Amino acid sequence: MVLNPWLTCGPRGIDPPCPPCQAGDLSLCWSFTKGDLGPGVHVGVITGAPGAWAEQLSAHDSMLIPVPDGISDAAAVLADPFSVSFHAIVRHPPPPSGRVLVYGAGALGLTSVAILRSLYPGVEVGVVARFEAQREMALQFGASAVFAHEPRLALVEALAEWSGAVLHAPLDGLPVTHPGHIDVVYDSIAKAETLEVGVRVLAERGRLVYTGVATPERWESTPIYFKEITIAGSNAFGIEDFEGTRQHAIAHYLQLVGEGRLDITPMLTHRFDLDEWWPALKALARQDRSGALKVAFTPNG
Ligand SMILES: [Zn+2]
Repeated sequence: MVLNPWLTCGPRGIDPPCPPCQAGDLSLCWSFTKGDLGPGVHVGVITGAPGAWAEQLSAHDSMLIPVPDGISDAAAVLADPFSVSFHAIVRHPPPPSGRVLVYGAGALGLTSVAILRSLYPGVEVGVVARFEAQREMALQFGASAVFAHEPRLALVEALAEWSGAVLHAPLDGLPVTHPGHIDVVYDSIAKAETLEVGVRVLAERGRLVYTGVATPERWESTPIYFKEITIAGSNAFGIEDFEGTRQHAIAHYLQLVGEGRLDITPMLTHRFDLDEWWPALKALARQDRSGALKVAFTPNG
């Protein structure tokens, strides 16, 4: 089974379910503060429903999605980051033969690259990566170019050159492309410094989709108005329409893996026994040294 961790109307026993739940927009549920479980959006961040670090985890039937025979645990454990990126891309798809930038090459960035490459093959994908292991995996997943995240001036210049855009230098701050030739930026970081670069390199009426969550900060956002850019938030996942099938994003993932259309298991770089929790956390904390991309525990050996 794969757990859909969201504590929406169904698991909370709210009947009838709220309008977003009825529409399949599970991450937009109106009931996150209602019912006996206490306030919180999903297991692990709420007192009434511990997550997978607890000795026991309880789940409502509606939260469990069966893993078909033939799909490995290594593939199944990556369902969550895949689904976050799938939701963002399916709801804000790139134009056919378009050009997109995936900002960040952690779990969300890398799954985005794999989704774009496998399901939107006509689209050119650039990636901004921080660590060497991320850069290598982005290329393995089919990115056509990978850019270093710093310094930002060099990044903006490199993105302008890659996309064939014309660069203009304002009196102050980073340069801006106009015309720009990047149709969509999928920003899995969404910090002030990444948003600032994203809107600078987008095309006119381009779209910046953000799946990242960061501490609020001010940033220089003039290109949003000047280039009429659309900013779209994208929160987790729910029931998604893709290629004529309407089902939970995790079910789409398991189906795509079963059909051999996508394999993201290479990003599961490290596995540890449960009592090796300290080296597991260290591998994550020092990704630059360990090369860790996704780390999993293997309680059953
Ligand atoms: Zn609801």
